[in-house]
Amino acid sequence: MKDWKSQTEDFNQTTHESSGKETSSGEHTQYPQKLSILDEHKKTAQTLKEMLEEILKLLRNWIVKNDKDSETEKTKNNETSAAVQTTEPPKQTDNNETLQAEETTVESSNNQSDGVKFYTLNGFTLTIINEAQDFGQEIQERIFDTFNKVYPKMRERFNKEATKNVTLIIVRKFNETAHTSNKTIKIHSAYFKETPLDTDTITHELMHVLQSSYPNFEQTWLIEGIADYARWKYGCDTHQEKLTNFESKHNYTDSYKVTARFLVWLETKVNDKVVDRLNEGLQKNQYQNGTLWKEITQKSVDDLWNEYTKNPDLPK
Ligand SMILES: [Zn+2]
Repeated sequence: MKDWKSQTEDFNQTTHESSGKETSSGEHTQYPQKLSILDEHKKTAQTLKEMLEEILKLLRNWIVKNDKDSETEKTKNNETSAAVQTTEPPKQTDNNETLQAEETTVESSNNQSDGVKFYTLNGFTLTIINEAQDFGQEIQERIFDTFNKVYPKMRERFNKEATKNVTLIIVRKFNETAHTSNKTIKIHSAYFKETPLDTDTITHELMHVLQSSYPNFEQTWLIEGIADYARWKYGCDTHQEKLTNFESKHNYTDSYKVTARFLVWLETKVNDKVVDRLNEGLQKNQYQNGTLWKEITQKSVDDLWNEYTKNPDLPK
C-alpha cells in the first residue's frame, strides 16, 4: 500500500485536473471523460478507505497492548505489596500470636485471592478472604456463626464505637497462628486443620479488634488475658478448655488463660465490674504503672494475686 502522503498528492492532482476540464468544457461532450474521472475518484476513495482501515487496525492493536501492559504492571504492584505485608515483622511474638495497632491493607489480598465471601447479619459483616484452597465452606460458615454469636455482645460491652465490619484472612503461608491488626484478623489455615472445632480462636481475636482502640499495647499480658477472658465468657466451642487449672508456679503476668482465670476469680470474688473497668482504663490510657488496680479494687495487683493463690477455687 502507498503511504498517506503520496496518495494524498495523487488525489489532489486528480481533483485539480478534473475541475479544470469541467469548467472549460460542455457537459455532453465531456461525459465519457467524466466517467473516467469518476472511476479515478472511486479508486482513490477505495484506497483511502483501505488506508483508514489499516490505521484503525493499528490503533486497536496499540490500545489492546497498552491495556495488557497496565494490567501486568498492576499485578506486579500487588505482588510487591503482598510480599511486603507478609514479611513485615510482628510487634509481639508471645505465644506465636500478635496484636498490632497498624492498619493492614487487604486490597492486594482481595485481588489475588481465589475466594472472597461476605457474610452479613443484623448489620454486622464478616468478610472472609480465603487464600487456602482446602479451607472449606463448612468451616467458614462455622466461623461466621461464632462471629455472629459473640461479636455483637462483646462490642456492646467493651467498645460500642468499634467497627461492625471485620475481615478475616485465611493465610496459607504464615509464621504465626493468628494476628490481629485493627479490624483485620489473619489466621494460619493449618491451625484449623489441626483443631477444626476451635473456632473460638476467632472470639479471642475479635476481642483484639475491640481492643485496637487502646492507645498503647504495653500491658500485653493483661490485653491477652482479657482476650482469653472474653473467649471464656462468650466462646461457643465446648471442646476446648477455656481456662487453665491453677498451678503454684503461675503468675498474673503469664498472660492468656492464666491471666484470664485470675480475672474470672476477681470478677466473682472482688468486683464484678473489674474487667469492664480494666478495659475502660486501658482505652483511656489510665493504666499508669498499675494504679488502675487500686482505683478499681483499692488493692495492688500483687496483693490481689496473693489472695488468689491462697484460695484459687472458682465458683461452680
Ligand atoms: Zn491474643
